[in-house]
Amino acid sequence: MALTGLEIFKLLPKTNCKKCGMPTCLAFAMQLAQKRARLDACPDVSEEAKKVLAAAAAPPIRLVKFGVGDNQVQVGQETVMFRHEEKFYNPTVIGVTVSDKLSGEALKHRIEAINALQFERVGARISVGAVAVVNESGSAEAFAAAAAAVKDSTSLAMILVSESPDAISAAVGGVAAAAPLLACATAETSEAMARIARDNNCPLVAKAESVEALAELTDKIKTAGVEDIVLSHNGSSLSEQLSGFSKIRALSLKKNFRPLGYPTVSFVTDGDTDTQAATAISLICKYSSIVVVETVEPYALLPMLTMVMNVFTDPQKPVQVEPKVYTLGEPGADSPVMFTTNFSLTYYTVESDVEASRVPSYVLVVDTEGTSVLTAYSGDKLNEKTVADAMAKAKVDELVKHRKLIIPGYVAVMSGKLEEATGWEIMVGPRESSMLPKYLHEVW
Ligand code: SF4
Repeated sequence: MALTGLEIFKLLPKTNCKKCGMPTCLAFAMQLAQKRARLDACPDVSEEAKKVLAAAAAPPIRLVKFGVGDNQVQVGQETVMFRHEEKFYNPTVIGVTVSDKLSGEALKHRIEAINALQFERVGARISVGAVAVVNESGSAEAFAAAAAAVKDSTSLAMILVSESPDAISAAVGGVAAAAPLLACATAETSEAMARIARDNNCPLVAKAESVEALAELTDKIKTAGVEDIVLSHNGSSLSEQLSGFSKIRALSLKKNFRPLGYPTVSFVTDGDTDTQAATAISLICKYSSIVVVETVEPYALLPMLTMVMNVFTDPQKPVQVEPKVYTLGEPGADSPVMFTTNFSLTYYTVESDVEASRVPSYVLVVDTEGTSVLTAYSGDKLNEKTVADAMAKAKVDELVKHRKLIIPGYVAVMSGKLEEATGWEIMVGPRESSMLPKYLHEVW
């Protein structure tokens, strides 16, 4: 259990030497108790105290990694219940199943479909992060063969799904180098599964139908030498699962209850594609660290990945693009020049509308600290000076022969002052960027 600041203080050297950056040992102890400092910041703490304090300083939810190389994924180490309190750190990993009943061409097509589940959204690549090989056949040999085939066909992180220790043991031998997540150990199989996980250095999923049973199970697995554990609260309804995950998050964060201080996984393989998408999205919100689905329909995966992206962005930092001139198409000296702000959503909306017009253009992105046009204007982050400065910095006058600047219709009121500040003719564009194609063809 967590130590209080005073309990931690008793274990520190009490010299107030300030090497940790804190004015006193007591101040450092308080920071440590609130998980705002790292123990290694104090160079003088004794080995004996280190042991006790390391446990207190450990994150309330363990970080668990699986997969290798660029496609290694990590889950857990969250610090808050609600993202507005700080932010969520490690995005939910979306995995897709591959049945070990598939082989040959069918298996190849399935893996190709999973590898292709990549999308671009507001300038970022979002994609499926894991392949879950499922032992549907019941045969250890078929499971091992499918796991080996998956390893050869994708670099995505792998999850081996079987409740049979024999099957997991057969499959993990050939793919241990890929550091798969092993799923699942139950109360009946925990000893054998923990041995396989420990011997192959793989993280292990603990599965039970109640939060209490999960806590008992993780204790057993940890005692058997496996530290990297993921919790599965499957076998219950969605509402029970959501309430179980919320309980797990609250007990690990608020009470620092170590047996539940692990990331979570859910398997959403029942129901049609639409049901899987809706269920997965609910679980991404509360609080599944890994969600495995059966569908490979892009229309279902895109909303899941979009939800992950939205939930895991830092609410205190608007998503921004670099302020500079963007060339869309191959603009020349007679091409239109327009400006917008560096709020990602605003920029990418403008970008796609300009691209849809097929009129090669220059889009000047003004630094408004990631705010949209109207918000920036009302906060005085978008005015004639910021636009003129951005134009000068980007040397816009060297790009085109004309001196005409298209401005967003919502800030038409800037026209006069902007004309004075830049010496350019101001053309008021449409309020909505969706009207840009029409505007560029008919007015420009
Ligand atoms: Fe105390 Fe250690 Fe910080 Fe020095 S470095 S003030 S001994 S906690």
